[in-house]
Amino acid sequence: GKGNVIITGASSGLGLATAKALADTEKWHIIMACRNFLKAERAAKSVGITKENYTVMHLDLSSLESVRQFVDTFRRSGRPLDALVCNAAVYLPTAKEPTYTADGFELSVGTNHLGHFLLARLLLDDLKKSDSPQKRLIIVGSITGNTNTLAGNVPPKANLGDLRGLAGGLNGLNSSAMIDGGEFDGAKAYKDSKVCNMLTMQEFHRRYHEETGVTFSSLYPGCIATTGLFREHIPLFRLLFPPFQKYITKGYVSEEEAGKRLAQVVSDSSLTKSGVYWSWNKNSASFENQLSQEASDAEKARKLWEVSEKLVGLA
Ligand code: NDP
Repeated sequence: GKGNVIITGASSGLGLATAKALADTEKWHIIMACRNFLKAERAAKSVGITKENYTVMHLDLSSLESVRQFVDTFRRSGRPLDALVCNAAVYLPTAKEPTYTADGFELSVGTNHLGHFLLARLLLDDLKKSDSPQKRLIIVGSITGNTNTLAGNVPPKANLGDLRGLAGGLNGLNSSAMIDGGEFDGAKAYKDSKVCNMLTMQEFHRRYHEETGVTFSSLYPGCIATTGLFREHIPLFRLLFPPFQKYITKGYVSEEEAGKRLAQVVSDSSLTKSGVYWSWNKNSASFENQLSQEASDAEKARKLWEVSEKLVGLA
């Protein structure tokens, strides 16, 4: 039969393009894990994913209760789980003040990192039970959190510091809303959350790859300048960013191409190595990319894991 893959944030952008690419192979049933049911249904229709190839299930990553409910709903569906793609994200570059999740965490890190952290931890048990020979857990990363690249050096740079803000609950009350304890900066909060995503993937690999046989991967699919991710940005930025990426940095990829890349990480039999951060060269060939010093700091990854466990109620 078909493999079952959960994709968070499959209602637009990269998640939707990946769902489409996998559905077209006729080898996958896609569970679209989305916060807006109607939008997800419409999105699936708009790209021509056929009814028998997908199911929409409600998931709001900015609520730990919703994450737990999603896992229950998925288990009650009786489907085995062969792959999980943690893709959804929010980006609030123009926010002057922090906003918060249902549990009181700054919204970007709370959604992009903590929501996915709980989801992935809970669903690891389901992945373990699958009898598929190629079980995969993928957390979408980004170049912007990666300070060993040009794009990652555009200020404000990602920096998790000693995690004091996160350890304090990231709530803007008795702790800072920023992981490093600094002043709120929406663009930096997003980049920090992406560093967390890449550290989490590697910590999963170190803790669970041998025991479970699950392949853990992250990736930078290229700059998909047309997605909804930039919807909060100022209009002039939204106008100029796609041509800038296309003609100046040449990092531009279409949503369709980016979706094909992520679909490869889900199902290509040549991308089975665990603990890898994948990227693609100009000819769209995949290669194992290098992470920045902070994004590959094993000690920080361990600490992030432990602090995150406490915040989401797993420890
Ligand atoms: P989009 O904004 O198009 O997609 C983000 C998705 O996340 C949407 O489906 C959105 O749902 C969903 N989402 C947001 N908040 C929540 C929530 N609380 N619960 C559940 N789902 C939520 O952006 P992209 O497709 O560009 O981003 C996808 C991934 O790609 C992200 O991880 C991003 O960091 C990464 N990425 C993007 C790059 C780019 O250039 N665009 C470059 C590198 C990485 P809804 O449809 O309801 O809004």
